[in-house]
Amino acid sequence: MKLTQIRNATLKVEYAGTTFLIDPMLSGKGGFPGFPGTVNSQIANPTVELPLPMSEILAVDAVIVTHTHQDHWDDTAKTVIPKDMLIFTQNARDQWDIQMSWFHNTRALEEQNEFHGIALTKTPGQHGRGEILEGLMGDILGDVCGIVFTHPREKTLYIAGDTVWYKGVQENLARYKPDVIVLNSGDARVLPNEPIIMGKEDVYEVYKTAPSATIIASHMEAVNHATLSRKELRAFLLERGTTSRVLVPEDGESYSF
Ligand SMILES: [Zn+2]
Repeated sequence: MKLTQIRNATLKVEYAGTTFLIDPMLSGKGGFPGFPGTVNSQIANPTVELPLPMSEILAVDAVIVTHTHQDHWDDTAKTVIPKDMLIFTQNARDQWDIQMSWFHNTRALEEQNEFHGIALTKTPGQHGRGEILEGLMGDILGDVCGIVFTHPREKTLYIAGDTVWYKGVQENLARYKPDVIVLNSGDARVLPNEPIIMGKEDVYEVYKTAPSATIIASHMEAVNHATLSRKELRAFLLERGTTSRVLVPEDGESYSF
């Protein structure tokens, strides 16, 4: 497999001969406002430009949208992705949303799915902890998913999606034993100061729990509410001695496994 970190959670995954685009946020720098109710909401999103030409980003067989928050599925993605592109969604509700933007080749993921001989397994995630998951903010954060890719010729890939470290991720690691794990690691926070994706300590928990996996830190330095920089994460990893198994790519960087 080949994984390309594009920007934020947007990834290109070339797996068993099929190319996927994950969570496309494709706007130019500053294309939409910061998220209300989050840390640093005065900063417009995305905070950096795309590292690759759009034609290269869109040269895929299918798109997977783990949830429809704007930093994973934005208005530019709705405009530039061809309307007949196959779009996988986490559930019927997101499928409906995406169909409302005139996409007519959508597929809501079941627990187990098959596409071009690849098994795609939908996994649960938890977009925050404790009280923020209750009430209005819980509704806003909503449902999220991750995806496990398996194929007889490939290593197992687990894209955890927008989730914090919690027992669901621990169970996914035990059940699927992934060789490569993508973690959304930018420690995005809602007010007053609550994490809604992984931070450095969560990455370290995954590292300890999956002792032979390679971990890729994604969803970094691209949206207003991300509070963990690559520099800070790398320094933390160095201090913990984890650097050989945890990769912190720049936007545009690729790895093959
Ligand atoms: Zn996100």
